[in-house]
Amino acid sequence: METSDVQADLKHVLYTKEQIQQRVAELAAEIDKDYEGREVLLVGVLKGAVMIMADLARALRSHLKMDWMAVSSYGSGTQSSGVVRILKDLETDLMGKHVLIVEDIIDSGLTLSWLKTNLISRGPASVEICTLLRKPAAAKVDIDVKYVGYDIPNEFVVGYGLDFAEKYRNLDFVGTLAPHVYE
Ligand code: 5GP
Ligand code: MG
Ligand code: MG
Repeated sequence: METSDVQADLKHVLYTKEQIQQRVAELAAEIDKDYEGREVLLVGVLKGAVMIMADLARALRSHLKMDWMAVSSYGSGTQSSGVVRILKDLETDLMGKHVLIVEDIIDSGLTLSWLKTNLISRGPASVEICTLLRKPAAAKVDIDVKYVGYDIPNEFVVGYGLDFAEKYRNLDFVGTLAPHVYE
């Protein structure tokens, strides 16, 4: 297998580095306005949210802290089941905190729905969600996502934290894979 040329694996670019930086700055301005005078705890969901977390945190002007969770959906297929296992839990006590969950992408929304309920049970002052990308299926789940970067079509995307078999997370843009990669 040829491993040297990442570009050859991509079909097209959905959002460039510049577009993402611009959109993240807009989201940060909204968040700063909404949380004025309050400290925010950003909860990044590993591993996909690493890039958006790093860029969003640097664009925000509010006082903030960062923590991380890793979760995995049970089930064998590619569809998430909504039954979630915590692989790495937060180190922060959420009591009285303003929590903002930071995600790369919401597809079915099942993972996030579970996560939001789980975090609410820990007694925070508030829990909101920020995601870079959202797919159409997410609309079917009753979950309020306050900050959305882009609503995208139902295509498999990679880059800017998002992987295919753990690859492509390091790309600074979001794109779709060429069929030869997964066929
Ligand atoms: P769901 O919202 O279905 O519970 O799960 C969302 C998770 O599925 C994301 O955090 C991500 O790991 C994975 N996922 C969903 N759609 C895509 C996609 O288009 N590309 C990649 N790389 N991962 C995706
Ligand atoms: Mg994710
Ligand atoms: Mg993945």
